[in-house]
Amino acid sequence: MTGTGHTSLVPFVNEPYADFSQPEVWASAEAALTSVRSQLGREYPLWLAGAEHTTGDLLISVNPSRPSEIVGRHHKATAEMANRAIEDAHAYAPHWGRTPPLERARLLTRAAALIRERKFEFDAWLVIEAGKTWPEAEAEVGEAIDFCEYYARQMVRFAEPEPVVQLPGERDNLVYLPLGMGIIIPPWNFPLAILAGMTTAALVAGNTVVIKPSSETPTVAAKFVEVLHAAGFPPRSLALTTGSGAVIGDLLVEHPKTRFVSFTGSREVGLRINELAAKPRKGQIWIKRVVAEMGGKDAIIVDREADLDSAVAGVVQSAFGYQGQKCSACSRAIVDDPIYDEFLEKLQARVAALTVGDPENRANFMGPVISAGARKTILNYIEAGRGEGRLIAGGGVLPGEGYFIQPTVFAGVDSKARIFQEEIFGPVLTVSRARDFSHALELANDTEYGLTGAVYSRNPETVHRARQEFFVGNLYINRKCTGAMVGAHPFGGFNMSGTDSKAGGPDYLLQFLQAKSIAEKL
Ligand code: NAD
Repeated sequence: MTGTGHTSLVPFVNEPYADFSQPEVWASAEAALTSVRSQLGREYPLWLAGAEHTTGDLLISVNPSRPSEIVGRHHKATAEMANRAIEDAHAYAPHWGRTPPLERARLLTRAAALIRERKFEFDAWLVIEAGKTWPEAEAEVGEAIDFCEYYARQMVRFAEPEPVVQLPGERDNLVYLPLGMGIIIPPWNFPLAILAGMTTAALVAGNTVVIKPSSETPTVAAKFVEVLHAAGFPPRSLALTTGSGAVIGDLLVEHPKTRFVSFTGSREVGLRINELAAKPRKGQIWIKRVVAEMGGKDAIIVDREADLDSAVAGVVQSAFGYQGQKCSACSRAIVDDPIYDEFLEKLQARVAALTVGDPENRANFMGPVISAGARKTILNYIEAGRGEGRLIAGGGVLPGEGYFIQPTVFAGVDSKARIFQEEIFGPVLTVSRARDFSHALELANDTEYGLTGAVYSRNPETVHRARQEFFVGNLYINRKCTGAMVGAHPFGGFNMSGTDSKAGGPDYLLQFLQAKSIAEKL
């Protein structure tokens, strides 16, 4: 594709994953890790109004496996800077919005290429700053590349006029325009992929953005902004205002020039943003659009006709991959009565074999949870769980300074229990017994969330019922409930899981566009 409007993008395919068991691949990954290690502790500026800024007030990011190790030092935005960032990105929005859509898409494919070139380096940053294992990090970097490639192609599609009915004597058109300037607020658990997806979708659609990264993972965000600059996105098209959500969050959301807020994170913060954004401020001339993708309490149903080994493997991978810190993580296994005991036995054996420790060591299946605060919250839930179920695995922490928690399973948990109802966001799984498949569906749907879910069954009628009655935005059949792939599994949930914007799907860019109808009398 060139910037002149001629498109030659090959059809989208998902990025392949590196196989770290290959010695030469692992050697390259280790070299990237060494290079990243040599950069630990560096300072990173803010970006606003097209230039870098410093404040001397630093946010310190640490390695959750060894919290005494500083990953990055990040200058924090003041309220005045956050206001300037908004004013400038708002002022620049019409210029960026007039850049031809195909040129914007070209910059995005260039960003994808730059991340691809630095793949192992980004893997290493995710291992060190977010506590991901190498395969989890590799999957995330692949997803970031996929978002860029996919949204570039979607923009090419939206750049074409949408066919509409042609009235006699008229030429009728529908075209898509950008919204203006929006705020991007991502979570820490996919600090590259979700940040990249939310940011690039808005940018490629012709909007300018002010990014407020998570305070847990600002270094990955700073590295991603480096990529966007290197790819050629104009410096004024994006601002990076690192800082505490509590200090500048409300200001960004409430500002009258803010046209939209794209948020991914917890239900609590998402609902607050939605409420604040709903109130028009002095001088505001639009209703703010809010995209809010929030939490989950995802269930896997294991039916009596399931392939039990594959179900156990799927539950363990979904519950404990990245320490259960995925919105899509399985936190409830709902198991049909006749196979309940056998399932528990197999589950217990598999969980006992999981390895936990510093993810820099490829032998570990699980790393740390993100922070001391997260560890405390999770341990409080484990305490509550002791009174709500039978602890059959884990329950404790690992010695040492890292935030490591054992993979933990409670059996015999009632649907009224807190550990069954509330999002724990850590390596804690409940197992509940269902009388039959109808009861299993009732239990699975007994939640205010509705993000992902899976059903293991070889019975086509059972599968058919799940398709109809399991109320989740992303349903998986005979496979794990994590690992949504861009393009194939557009992602987003029902009810309190959010606005169901379906990231990585064909409709996602519409969140950041507004349609204009033009009728010309001939
Ligand atoms: P969080 O809600 O604590 O924080 C998310 C972001 O909001 C962070 O950048 C944070 O700094 C910012 N923030 C906090 N207070 C703010 C305020 N008052 N104003 C503006 N911004 C504010 O969530 P988290 O701990 O970063 O992420 C974990 C949560 O995200 C879990 O609930 C998880 O299920 C959810 N999540 C959902 C999806 C999805 O697609 N549905 C994907 C990933 C994570």
